Amino acid sequence: MMKMRSCVNKLCAILWKPCRVPIFRYQEMEQKEENDLNLKAMNAEELREQAHKMVDFIADYYKTIESFPVLSQVQPGYLGKLLPDSAPTCPESLQHVLNDVQEKILPGVTHWQSPNYFAYFPSNSSIAGFLGEMLSAGLNIVGFSWITSPAATELEAIVLDWLAKALLLSHDFFSTGQGGGVIQGTASEAVLVVLVAARDKILRTVGRTALPKLVTYASDQTHSSLQKACQIGGLDPELCRLLKTDSSTNFALSPDVLSEAISDDIASGLIPFFLCANVGTTSSTAVDPLPALAKVTRTNNIWFHVDAAYAGSACICPEYRHFIDGVEEADSFNMNAHKWFLTNFDCSLLWVKERSALIQSLSTNPEYLKNKASEGNMVIDYKDWQIPLGRRFRSLKLWMVLRLYGLEGLQAHIRSHIAMAAYFEELVVQDKRFKVVAPRTFSLVCFRLLPPPNSKDNGNKLNHDLIDLVNSTGSVFITHTVLSGEFVLRFAVGAPLTEVRHVKAAWQILQEKATALLQIYH
Ligand code: PLP
Repeated sequence: MMKMRSCVNKLCAILWKPCRVPIFRYQEMEQKEENDLNLKAMNAEELREQAHKMVDFIADYYKTIESFPVLSQVQPGYLGKLLPDSAPTCPESLQHVLNDVQEKILPGVTHWQSPNYFAYFPSNSSIAGFLGEMLSAGLNIVGFSWITSPAATELEAIVLDWLAKALLLSHDFFSTGQGGGVIQGTASEAVLVVLVAARDKILRTVGRTALPKLVTYASDQTHSSLQKACQIGGLDPELCRLLKTDSSTNFALSPDVLSEAISDDIASGLIPFFLCANVGTTSSTAVDPLPALAKVTRTNNIWFHVDAAYAGSACICPEYRHFIDGVEEADSFNMNAHKWFLTNFDCSLLWVKERSALIQSLSTNPEYLKNKASEGNMVIDYKDWQIPLGRRFRSLKLWMVLRLYGLEGLQAHIRSHIAMAAYFEELVVQDKRFKVVAPRTFSLVCFRLLPPPNSKDNGNKLNHDLIDLVNSTGSVFITHTVLSGEFVLRFAVGAPLTEVRHVKAAWQILQEKATALLQIYH
């Protein structure tokens, strides 16, 4: 009975409602327990106390991060066995929850911030990014139009202009002109919104009934988010042309192949309208020749989008900027600050030259959102540049990153990872049992273990087994791709805590496991 009363009191306190039932007479008796457990929805002093505990927990996590297996070793469904099958009726203490995080959640976490994480592409966390996230969570605004928090809109435009300047983008991409930058959640959203803008732009000219004739182009190395965008955008999936690449162009799209495909499609009565070029493909960081591709798009009146989701960050270093030469000809450009730019997920930066194209496709203007600033056309309303209405104050974390590290700090971050990747590449080259299979351009090394002579599948199973064996140690996490039919290992350096010793240790594990496997395979 006591337990039940206590629970009702707690619930009442949580809901901020005066509890009318007589059990409140017992409140004093239970005051101590209540104080421990009744976390208010918001209260400055309680926030301070609890948030300090959380920061301590997170700091301890980072301190001990190397003690966890990088790739979670749990089996599917593990968590259902550890957690109750319904939500608690009564409030629990933060300590209780944190104990569960430690014991039940962390085993099911793959530690993207571990220094031994070399999988996919990095997803940087940093102190500055973390503090920015905290501040954004603290203010918790929903900045869909300027009026809902002028600072959110204006800071976003300013920091994207800062970065556009750092990347030496053309002024057409700045918010001071007809274009501007916007923070999307992901590169997938970025390509979707520009694809839809490009679709509607061409349909305004050729008529809406031409939708089934629109053709999208990209190399076969392009991230699958483009195909998803075509699916969502109502485009014929058959007309999403993923043009073949191979090692002769280091997996970059050939302008001749593009021109030919466009000519064929025009001859068949189709309408080419969109090209997605890559600077740093997901599989091997291939870089498409932007200037030559730009020429083809201009001749054919095709929207030219550049996906530099991962490698764009490197282009703030003068020595890597040339990889986006030609971007001045693009209609839109995207890089993920949340990959390799010390900005916590999510923060994908999209610049467009013609903001009106986005707005024409994505704008709605219901009565309940009307306001003087928007009506007067004096402000940016980012709701019209993205899919959802609501949006977080994400520019805060990017602003924090830019201010607390400065461009020099960010350049040093990029350079250190590229240097470590170059070092890893050297280690691979020195071991004749392995082969580097694509040129290392940034901080990704694509390599494989050479199979014994007469291997039936050209060593694909061998390399598959190698990666499984290495990842099962929990000491390192790497992933794979397939290039020209070959199963290839990818070693992507980019976690902020990674040092040369981690790269050396990872290589040692790879070598040991390769030795063990080759004995079995020979
Ligand atoms: N483009 C490239 C080149 C990528 O490597 C990725 C993801 O790794 C994406 C797009 C999709 O990124 P997001 O998860 O931000 O949608």
